Amino acid sequence: MTPHDLYGRTFACECGKTHAIEPREALCAADALDRLPDVCARAAGERSAVVLTDVRTRAAAGAAAAAALRAAGWTVREIVVPDPAPDRSPVCDDATHDRLAGETAGAGLVVSVGSGVLSDLGKWLAYDAGVPCVSFATAASMNGYASANVAPTLAGVKSLLRARPPRVVLASPDILCAAPRELTTAGLGDVLAKCTSSADWRMNHILFGDYYCARSVGLIAEIEPLYLEHPQDVAAGDARAVGALFDALLLTGVAMTMAESSAPASGGEHLISHTLDMLAVAAGGEHDLHGRQVGVGTILMCELYRRVLAVESPKFRTPPEQIDVRFWGPLAGAVSPCYAEKRPRLSAAADKLAKPGEWDRLRAELAPMLRPPEQVRDCLARAGGATTASDIGCDKRTLAEILRRAREVRARFTILDLADLLGVPDDAADEITEQWG
Ligand SMILES: [Zn+2]
Ligand SMILES: [Zn+2]
Repeated sequence: MTPHDLYGRTFACECGKTHAIEPREALCAADALDRLPDVCARAAGERSAVVLTDVRTRAAAGAAAAAALRAAGWTVREIVVPDPAPDRSPVCDDATHDRLAGETAGAGLVVSVGSGVLSDLGKWLAYDAGVPCVSFATAASMNGYASANVAPTLAGVKSLLRARPPRVVLASPDILCAAPRELTTAGLGDVLAKCTSSADWRMNHILFGDYYCARSVGLIAEIEPLYLEHPQDVAAGDARAVGALFDALLLTGVAMTMAESSAPASGGEHLISHTLDMLAVAAGGEHDLHGRQVGVGTILMCELYRRVLAVESPKFRTPPEQIDVRFWGPLAGAVSPCYAEKRPRLSAAADKLAKPGEWDRLRAELAPMLRPPEQVRDCLARAGGATTASDIGCDKRTLAEILRRAREVRARFTILDLADLLGVPDDAADEITEQWG
């Protein structure tokens, strides 16, 4: 069974779980818009749909999608999510969700047309309304299209909700390749994070016996070389490279569904991005695209892993009882419970790794999963993506502070925690951001 045959299948896996894969179909084809009505007819019981766009994605594909459905006899209500301010595209947050919630009433299907924000809003609204959702992707910009997760900002805090994956994800190579370049390189950053997030997930399996599925980690192995070794083709908008990137992003979403958690695709590098988001929102400013921040975070995590796994005789320190309140300021109240939840794991990890042979076992198992930071940086740089602090609107000193503190933002144990237990970031955070940020 190739990764492409997974969609819609139910199978018993070596990990012990039976995986039922949604989406049922994933289709990236030149005639995707023409095929939309048939796809929707298979997904929904009745021919009435809400088509959710913003002004840009309406022009890129949304208007054509609505027209194709109407021509096939569907009743269509178009919702164009307004920009919150001039030159600012919509966000996925509680306020936007609440405004739209009543507008899907009576529709048998939600069709989202767009990238991260619209795909998430579509999944969220469809889940609330108890109807299926079809996602028409307009950019290879993030790995959430095929996943059950929605990542909204709730009361100012970046959060994660469980909804359902869309029944079908569609895309057209022409539209994906015509998307703004920074969206595509953001997708590249999000998918390159797979090496550090998978290593973090495996580390949780080794240290705490958490569930782990090797098959979901290996899903993108075959297609990875098509963009990893040809980033200039991603930059040029070559259909084969961008199509492979899109496939890998979808399969990363499938991996999250298989794991029933974001763990396979979200490790320490994502905590760097979440922290950048939260600090920016708290300061009333803006942040860069998720995947661009994640790409920079991945370079830093690859370097951090390299330094941590090079330690021969580890000495673990007692984890601090509290978060750094000075650093988090008004966010401290929201961050503190996450760290408190994680704290027992910090001691448990140190106890386990102090036992004979455990440290070398961890190093041996994780090392083959990782990439050198040079490779990740070169791939992103050749694709025209973000690689430095200034690329993502941050200064090196702040990024070094974030490297020390981002671990406090979530209960998930990552390389940031292991490095902190070893005292690595005390001196190395400045050095790493100087060299790589
Ligand atoms: Zn499995
Ligand atoms: Zn991500």
